[in-house]
Amino acid sequence: MTSAVSDAIDGVRDVLSRATESIVIAGKPGPAADGRLIETHDPATGEVVASIAAGGAADVERAVSAASRAAGSWQVLSAAGRARALFDVAALIEEHADELATLETLDNGKPLTESMFLDVGIAAEIWRYYAGWCTKIGGQTLPVSPPVGNSFAYTRREPLGVVGLIVPWNFPLLIASWKLAPALAAGNTVVLKPSELTSLSALRLVELITEAGLPPGVVNLVTGYGHEAGQALIEHPDVAKISFTGSTATGQRIVTASAASLKKLTLELGGKSANIVFPDADLEGAAQGALTGIFLNQGQVCCAGSRLFVHRSVHDDLLTELETAARAIQLGHGLADGTEMGPLISGGQRDRVEGFVRSGSDQGATLVCGGDRPGGELASGNFLNPAIFSDVRDDMRIAREEIFGPVLTVLPFDDEAEVVRRANDSEYGLAAGLWTSDVTRAHRVAHQLQAGTVWINQYNMLDPAAPFGGYKASGYGRDLGEESLLGFTQTKSVWVSLD
Ligand code: NDP
Repeated sequence: MTSAVSDAIDGVRDVLSRATESIVIAGKPGPAADGRLIETHDPATGEVVASIAAGGAADVERAVSAASRAAGSWQVLSAAGRARALFDVAALIEEHADELATLETLDNGKPLTESMFLDVGIAAEIWRYYAGWCTKIGGQTLPVSPPVGNSFAYTRREPLGVVGLIVPWNFPLLIASWKLAPALAAGNTVVLKPSELTSLSALRLVELITEAGLPPGVVNLVTGYGHEAGQALIEHPDVAKISFTGSTATGQRIVTASAASLKKLTLELGGKSANIVFPDADLEGAAQGALTGIFLNQGQVCCAGSRLFVHRSVHDDLLTELETAARAIQLGHGLADGTEMGPLISGGQRDRVEGFVRSGSDQGATLVCGGDRPGGELASGNFLNPAIFSDVRDDMRIAREEIFGPVLTVLPFDDEAEVVRRANDSEYGLAAGLWTSDVTRAHRVAHQLQAGTVWINQYNMLDPAAPFGGYKASGYGRDLGEESLLGFTQTKSVWVSLD
């Protein structure tokens, strides 16, 4: 480990030492009710960096009742008061950006520059965006025509109550922020359950939320395993809504568990997104977009452009360019200077991705580069060299299933109608990209793609104002934008007699 890496870790030692008390209920950090701990590892080295509290049903029970009790203190605050508190959270995130980015990289493995500009930078903007919404959540006056007498009617957007937010390990701070900020702006109180693999930035975020002056109990944190703390949260009868990002399998479990209390759900699940390069595209831009589309965050991105459809006339040239660029990507510890790609989140995740690489070769695709483990000083981490497959058929597992790792499949196509049909031939529909200099084709194809987000001549763009979520098996409901905010409200119609 270089001195830059150990110095960075020393800078967050305080937070690491507080992690055994990572269950924060009514503003007070503490251990799990039964005292159990979970070790959390640096995925680049395998070393234990901290132990977090392994919360269970008893901790979730306390968290939900603290959130229920806090509802009054949050809703009684004026909309402007709630806005000020959320603006303060945004400012505190920026003030502590170095610390938060270091924690995120240490826990997740991604390069520090990504943590800094993408995760922390956009998280702060999200808090600011929803802070602005607090004073703009209005209803409507309604032109009612009752059969007798005169009435006036209007709507109110009211909070749901206690909401449960379940967050995965790929963008822990960012996704926690994009669920917390709209839930709070709409007046709800929350219980946050991060992934047990990456709970450190959530702990620090909740500390900053307390520092920003939100009343105790408005935000509660229960760290722990999904099948224990997560399961208790999705089954709790007093939780009005679950907003979840993660695997399709867990999403289906949540749908089943929510039936008993008819919880509202927002589910952002897996993807197998198509990224289409037409022959008239700026090929340099398309190559760059294809690389960030698949290799950002080691490919552990739900909207990763994992199926790259390339027009046959430019296929070979683009493939050569992608191979050269992929071979040049510098792997390393996310906290080390010059690192462009970090390790996968866990040994289990790398095994899973390697299984897909084997299946690609077994089914007859050509492994152009990568897919193997680097040696030397990276051997103890969960590293995998970025992989590209050519000669891929649409029916192969690597072209159909979500890999969630640095594996690109490249598929040639001949005409527009064909590529639209093949891009849409997926159970998923989270995102898609297309590259062309023909503006008419760009919009025509964008309208035909079955995906919740379509990027034209760019990939992986994200903004607090733009809703994000899936068609088909990629889930329902939306994160971000006004839609997410409205999803944390319920509409009441109020009738007034004018007679
Ligand atoms: P999961 O869906 O299991 O994890 C996502 C979140 O759900 C975590 O906080 C997890 O907690 C929690 N969780 C797990 N089980 C339950 C449960 N029974 N009740 C409530 N919450 C639960 O994903 P994995 O981490 O297992 O990853 C497996 C695959 O899922 C990946 O390879 C990838 O394909 C996909 N995935 C997709 C993501 C996306 O952004 N769409 C994000 C993450 C994964 P904990 O981690 O503590 O168990």
